[in-house]
Amino acid sequence: MTEASGSEPSIFTRIINGEIPADILYEDEDCICIKDIAPKAPTHLLIIPRRPIPRLADAGEADKALLGHLMLKVGDIARQVGVDEAFRVVVNNGAGAGQTVFHLHIHLLAGKTYDESALGF
Ligand code: AMP
Repeated sequence: MTEASGSEPSIFTRIINGEIPADILYEDEDCICIKDIAPKAPTHLLIIPRRPIPRLADAGEADKALLGHLMLKVGDIARQVGVDEAFRVVVNNGAGAGQTVFHLHIHLLAGKTYDESALGF
């Protein structure tokens, strides 16, 4: 599903609006954190801004504080769920990079062994 400007709301906007259920671990006025519906690791969470920025590359100067907030929340949430010693963060930007939901989100993955030789899930 996509969220190009002027098109229908993304699945994440629908979750934020309470139209679709999700397992919400955290929320504040700027973002929510949900469990990924198809986890690629024992812990697979999504940190999602309420503002529907389609892709990271679409963020601008006005989003600077929001992007910082999201990254700080990744660390807070990792501590909250007990994975702060080892987790991976992934942002897919664009279909060619594997992005399927065009509403910016940060993947927080943990609970399986990652090494420096391979990036990704
Ligand atoms: P990306 O491929 O980076 O766009 O990631 C989108 C992620 O959203 C995938 O890991 C999906 O499993 C996840 N996802 C899609 N729909 C839902 C949903 N309704 N609730 C939770 N996670 C979802």
